[in-house]
Amino acid sequence: MKTKVVVLGAGFGGLELSSILSTEMGDDLDLTLIDKNDSFFFGFSKFDVMFGRKTAEAVRIQYRNIVKPGVTFKQEMVTAIDPVAKRVTTDRSTYEADVLVIALGADYDISHTPGLAEGGNEFYSFAGAEKLREVLPTFQKGRVLVGVTSTPFKCPPAPSEAALLTHDYLVERGIRSDCEISLVMPFGIPIPPSPDTSKALIKAFSERGIAFVPNRLVRSLDTSRRVAVLDDGSEMPYDLFLGIPKHRVPQVVADSGLTEDGWIPVDTKTLKTKFENVFAIGDVNSVGTPKAGVFAEGAARTVAEQIIAQARGGNAAPYRGIGSCYIEFGSQRVGKVEVEFLAGPPTGTYTEASTELVKDKMLFGSTRRAKWFGL
Ligand SMILES: Cc1cc2nc3c(=O)[nH]c(=O)nc-3n(C[C@H](O)[C@H](O)[C@H](O)COP(=O)(O)OP(=O)(O)OC[C@H]3O[C@@H](n4cnc5c(N)ncnc54)[C@H](O)[C@@H]3O)c2cc1C
Repeated sequence: MKTKVVVLGAGFGGLELSSILSTEMGDDLDLTLIDKNDSFFFGFSKFDVMFGRKTAEAVRIQYRNIVKPGVTFKQEMVTAIDPVAKRVTTDRSTYEADVLVIALGADYDISHTPGLAEGGNEFYSFAGAEKLREVLPTFQKGRVLVGVTSTPFKCPPAPSEAALLTHDYLVERGIRSDCEISLVMPFGIPIPPSPDTSKALIKAFSERGIAFVPNRLVRSLDTSRRVAVLDDGSEMPYDLFLGIPKHRVPQVVADSGLTEDGWIPVDTKTLKTKFENVFAIGDVNSVGTPKAGVFAEGAARTVAEQIIAQARGGNAAPYRGIGSCYIEFGSQRVGKVEVEFLAGPPTGTYTEASTELVKDKMLFGSTRRAKWFGL
């Protein structure tokens, strides 16, 4: 009998899980992969769009390219999840599963930060990156403020990358000396599990005259005075605000009864929710790893092993929360941090930024394109 798997969300987690199960189980698999969009894009491609290096079309990868044994992709909006019955309702149909995997990622709540919608910008959504592509060329001089508004947030290196890439962008336009760049972060150092990575980033900030403001969040923007109000009540003036908005689970997840304290709790070794044969992987859960694609992928591998073991026998290795993230340092250089989160206190290893790692990062993208989309 085929194993009936329903995977909600075709992002890093859902794509990796579907690919592995298709390769390993093929004709024994009846997997439905559901996403509201027609295409996938890597989180880091938002920088390419925002700084005008690539068009939105160039970074989109169409889901219609998914042709895999045992996998059917459906472009539908998930409107209800019943984790007890393992039944999913969409805007077009209803699906019942033997195994249900929730990989719906994190949405943004822009309105949570007063003033952000009216007087700021965010580069975490695709729409936000596309808007910035129009806004950035109109910026001539003044204070750029990159600010995190809430925790947790996706890809903890991304605010640092945004500050460094903004520096390069302003240098290229010949207006860097007319501008100031500041970065407001909720941590004491940019990448808490890796002091070496943090040291390298802080050195890069200081070499480029970027002010790093640690242990703070931006609570609101006073748009009439163009001032950001931080969580200690202090104020920072800005002319261009590049924000990281508050993250939250998609509404359909919040309505499903699966969340506690805003996210889906899971067993840290198995990614199982409290409901039988219902898993949650990636940004949507609160497993204790950062919200990043590489961790969603790792979680997908762990869940795939369990589904395969359930169907065929055998054992699945426990999830360890390991991932390596590439970090854009600007000046055509990329660094790398490898982190392990669940074996004890989080630890990280830094590989110095280089042009070689630019190629590694490109390979990271192209191997996923090939594995997930056959391109
Ligand atoms: C600027 C930026 C840079 C980043 N850089 C990196 C990086 O270098 N490395 C890295 O590992 N990570 C990076 N990330 C983070 C990474 O993009 C996310 O952590 C990752 O995509 C999470 O994977 P996921 O599968 O949990 O969710 P997602 O990839 O977000 O996928 C969730 C899917 O669910 C779908 N969905 C949501 N609600 C519904 C619904 N109701 N019905 C149907 N479908 C729905 C969405 O359309 C989406 O396709 C970056 C993020 C940003 C914003």
